[in-house]
Amino acid sequence: ATPMSVMVGVGKAAEAGVLIRNGEALQTASKITTMILDKTGTITEGAPKVTDLLLAEGQIRQHVLMLAASIEAGSEHPLAMAILESAKEQGIEARRVSAFASIAGKGVEAVLDDSQLLFGNEKLMKERSIDIRAFIDRAQTLAEEAKTPMYFAINNKIAAVIAVADPIKTDSIEAIKRLQSNGIRIVMLTGDNRLTAKAIASKVGITEFVAEVMPEDKANKVAQLQKEGEIVGMTGDGINDAPALAHANVGFAIGTGTDVAIESADITLMRGSLHGLADAIAVSKATLTNIK
Ligand code: ADP
Ligand code: MG
Repeated sequence: ATPMSVMVGVGKAAEAGVLIRNGEALQTASKITTMILDKTGTITEGAPKVTDLLLAEGQIRQHVLMLAASIEAGSEHPLAMAILESAKEQGIEARRVSAFASIAGKGVEAVLDDSQLLFGNEKLMKERSIDIRAFIDRAQTLAEEAKTPMYFAINNKIAAVIAVADPIKTDSIEAIKRLQSNGIRIVMLTGDNRLTAKAIASKVGITEFVAEVMPEDKANKVAQLQKEGEIVGMTGDGINDAPALAHANVGFAIGTGTDVAIESADITLMRGSLHGLADAIAVSKATLTNIK
C-alpha cells in the first residue's frame, strides 16, 4: 500500500478507537487466518468477584477470609484483587505476612504467625501433596459454572475453596461471531483450569481452546500455529501475554490492560472491546484494496 493509503487507514482505525502503531501491522491484519484470544481481561472483564466460599470442618469464615486477604495483599493478580475486595466489603483487614512468594501460573504462598499459607490452583496443591479430595467434586461443579475455584491450604491441610466469577464483556460474543464470519479461526488461551475455560469458551462460541497454559507457553503456541502455516493475530491484556503479542504476526493489546502488553503489541484496542479486531481487519482490507 502507498504511504498515503496507510495514513488514511490509520486515521480511519483511530476513529474506531483502534490505535495502529505501525503501518506494516495494518497491512498484515487482513491476512490473519488464526486469532488467539486470551481469556481473562480480554474476553472477560478481568474484574472477578468472589462468589463462593466453602469451608473445611472447624474453619471460621471470617478468619479464612482474613488469611486469604493477607496472603493476596502482595499479589497484583486480578484474582488477588477479588479476594481483597471481598474482605474489604466485610470489614476484614489483611495482616502483614512474611516469606511471601508468588508462583507464576499457580498461586501464592506466605507465612502468618505460625501458619504456612498456600493459595492457588489444583496443580499447586498436587505439587505440594495437599489432599484436596474432600473438595474436588464441588470445585469441579464451580468450574463448570464458569467460575474459577482456588484452593486454600493452612499448614498443608485444605481449609477452604474460594471461587470467583469474571463476567464476559457484553459484546464479546458478537465480536467473536464477526471474526468467525470473516473465516478466521479462533483459539482461546488461558492459565485458568480446563473446566472453567471450557465453560467460558462455550458461552462465547469458541470450540478451540488451550487451558492451564503456563505464562511462558503462550508465545510457544503462537510459534506452533505459525509453523503450521497460520498468519497469527494475538490479543491479550496481561504481562503474561507480552511475549506472545510480540511473536504474533499482529499483536493486539486491550487498551485497559497492562503497559507491558500495550508496548509489546502493534495495535491497541482503546475501547477494550473485541469489535476493534474486526474493525482493524476491515480497515486493513480497505487499505489494501485502495492501492490496486
Ligand atoms: P490467568 O491470567 O489466565 O488467570 P495465570 O497463569 O495468571 O492465568 O494463573 C493461572 C491460575 O493460577 C489461576 O487461574 C489461579 O487458579 C492460579 N493463580 C495465579 N495467581 C494466583 C493468585 N494470586 N492467587 C490465587 N491463585 C492464583
Ligand atoms: Mg488476561
